[in-house]
Amino acid sequence: MKIDPLHIREKLPEKITLIAVSKNQPDEKIDAALAAGFRQFGENRVQEAQRHWQEKRALYPDLVLHLIGPLQSNKAGDAVALFDVIQTLDRPKIAEALRREMERQGRDLPCFIQVNIGDEPQKAGIAVADLPEFYRYCTETLGLSVVGLMAIPPFDQPATPFFQRMRHLADTLGLTQLSMGMSDDYPEALDCGATHIRIGTALFGQR
Ligand SMILES: *Cc1c(COP(=O)(O)O)cnc(C)c1O
Repeated sequence: MKIDPLHIREKLPEKITLIAVSKNQPDEKIDAALAAGFRQFGENRVQEAQRHWQEKRALYPDLVLHLIGPLQSNKAGDAVALFDVIQTLDRPKIAEALRREMERQGRDLPCFIQVNIGDEPQKAGIAVADLPEFYRYCTETLGLSVVGLMAIPPFDQPATPFFQRMRHLADTLGLTQLSMGMSDDYPEALDCGATHIRIGTALFGQR
């Protein structure tokens, strides 16, 4: 089975983290990606991630699992137990639930704040205007380890201006990590300073 038909991995600078998005993929494709040496994976639902990874975890001690989908506070405990990185910190209630669970489980997971960079009403992410205050709340009040920002730009517009705005927001907060860019727009994201790209279709084929 062919993973990474476009050879994205070979062409990337070493310091870029390529996250293989394994949501909706069958086990044999995940196993093929592991056999090909992939270790950073992204999932957008806690339950599906448990199904994919709970047993495999122990076999791959260097596995890094990123939560890239919206989190409900009643799933925060399961998320903290399974994932290594939370990329979808986007509202106070979730930040508080994560803090509680990390304390309870003795885990301190690096987090990305998800920004609703296109100000789309239906989309997850903190509003751009609320970002500085939310960042301070997460770090200073709750003591969460916020390492960067994450975003999904609007589907129907060129992505570059949104990626540039993300870079600027991260710089303003002194954050060095930026998770942005998917199968259709990762080259533009890299041009704008992405450090983490999240790729599903272009690695695994259609879901
Ligand atoms: C599904 C998903 C991806 C991967 O999308 P592709 O277009 O298949 O590369 C990246 N990020 C998030 C948040 C996703 O939900």
